[in-house]
Amino acid sequence: MNKHDTRTWQTIDAQHHLHPFTNTRELNERGVRVIESAKGVYLRDSEGNRILDGMSGLWCVAVGHGRNEIADAVAKQLRDLTFYNTFFNTTHPPVVELSRRLAEVTPAQFNRFFFTGSGSESNDTIFRLARYYWELEGKPEKQIYIGRHNGYHGSTVAAASIGGFGSMHRQGGMPIPGIVHAPQPFWWGEGGEMDPLDFGRHVARETLKLIDQIGAHKVAAMFAEPIQGAGGVIIPPATYWPELSAGLKERDVLLVSDEVICGFGRTGEWFGCELMGSQPDFLTMAKGITSGYVPMGAVAVSDRIAAALLEKGDEFAHGYTYSGHPAACAAALATLDILQGEKLVERVRDDIGPYLQSRWRALNDHPLVGDANMVGLIGSLQLTPDKAARASFPGEANIGLIARDFSFQNGLVMRAVGQRMVIAPPLTLSHAEADELISTVVKVLDLTHAHARRQGLVN
Ligand code: PMP
Repeated sequence: MNKHDTRTWQTIDAQHHLHPFTNTRELNERGVRVIESAKGVYLRDSEGNRILDGMSGLWCVAVGHGRNEIADAVAKQLRDLTFYNTFFNTTHPPVVELSRRLAEVTPAQFNRFFFTGSGSESNDTIFRLARYYWELEGKPEKQIYIGRHNGYHGSTVAAASIGGFGSMHRQGGMPIPGIVHAPQPFWWGEGGEMDPLDFGRHVARETLKLIDQIGAHKVAAMFAEPIQGAGGVIIPPATYWPELSAGLKERDVLLVSDEVICGFGRTGEWFGCELMGSQPDFLTMAKGITSGYVPMGAVAVSDRIAAALLEKGDEFAHGYTYSGHPAACAAALATLDILQGEKLVERVRDDIGPYLQSRWRALNDHPLVGDANMVGLIGSLQLTPDKAARASFPGEANIGLIARDFSFQNGLVMRAVGQRMVIAPPLTLSHAEADELISTVVKVLDLTHAHARRQGLVN
C-alpha cells in the first residue's frame, strides 16, 4: 500500500470514499482525520498524535488493539483454510469449535448459533427467524415487532426499522410495516417529576400496555439493548428490566437482547441481559465477538426456538456467504482465549470497572455535568447548562460536538450523542490509563464550560 502524507490521504479520501453516517460535503471541507496505527488502548494518527481510544474503535476492540495472538490465529487460518461455506452439508473446524465455545459463555438457554457478518445482519436474521418460529408453533398471526424510540439495531432495512432513529427512518422509506416503537427508559430526558425508579417501572408498564393494545397474540418479539449504546448510553433505572421481562414472559412475547455493544464483558458480565436479569430468547452478537479484528456477527438461538426449528421446521431459507467465515471464527476463538485467559470480564466487574466508575461518577461535581453514569466500562455524561432544572443547551450550540472536538485535540476519543458524551474503552484499560482518561475528560469539560460561558450559554 502507498504511504502518503495527511493532505494526500485527505484529498484521495475526499475524491473516492463515501463514509458511513457522514455528511460527506462537510467532512471534505473540514478534512478527515487519518488513523494509521494502534496498539493497546492508543491510536496514532497521520500527524503522529497519540490518542487514547475511549470508544474501543466503535465499541468493538474489547481486548485492545494490535494483539498478535489474534493476528496470528487469523493468518494461520487463512493459510489452512481460506474459505469454505457452511451451506451445503459442510462445516469446518473453526466454526464447530466456536459454536461450542459460545455455548459455554452464553446463558444456559443458548446452545445454538447462526453466524452472520455484522450486528445488522444478525438482527435481520432474527426478524425472519422469530416470525418463522411462531408459524411453526401454529401462531402465524404473531408478526409484530416492538422496538424502542432511540434504540439502535443496525443499518440494514429491518434493523434500521426496528431501531428508533428518526434520522434513519426519514431516508429510504423506513420503518417497514409490522414494527411498533415503545418508549425508552431515559429518565434524565423524559422522566419529568417522577423518581427514577418509578419512571423505570412506568416505562416498562407503558411498553406492556402498548403490547396489550396491539394484542399480545399479534406480537412476535421485542428487540432491546440492555443499555442503549448509540442512543447515548442510556442506563435504565433498576426497576425497568425486571418489570419488562416478567411482563413479556406473561404475554409470551419473545425477547431479543441486542448484545452487540453489551456482550462479551462490556458490562462486567458476559452479556448485558445477565446483569439486567432478563431471560431472552435470542441474543444479537457482533463487535466484541472478534474484538473487531475481523467482521463477524452471530445470533444465539434459545433451546425453545431451536427445538421448534429442529422438530417442526423445514429449511430456514436464509444465510450469508460469510456465515461462519473461517478467519472470523479464528479471530473469535482467539478473542475468547484472551477474554477467558486474562479474566477480562471479571476484571471489568471487580477491578477496572469499579475503579473507573468511581472516578467517572465524581464528574457529577462538574458544573457542566448533569448526570455521569457508568456500568462496567460503558458510561455517559449528560451535559447541561442547569443541573437542577435538567435543562438542555440549544441544539444549534452543538455543545456535544464542541466537547468531542476538544477531546480529540487533547488526545482522547470520546463520542458525542446529542448533548451526551459517551465512552467505552477497551476492557484491558490499566489504572494509569483510566487516570489519564479522567484527567483529559476534566480538561475537556473545563474547556467546554469556558466555551459555553463565552457564548453566553451558562453563567
Ligand atoms: N445493534 C447494536 C446495539 C449496535 O450498537 C450496532 C452497531 N453499533 C448494531 C446492532 C449494528 O451492528 P453492525 O454495525 O455490525 O451492523
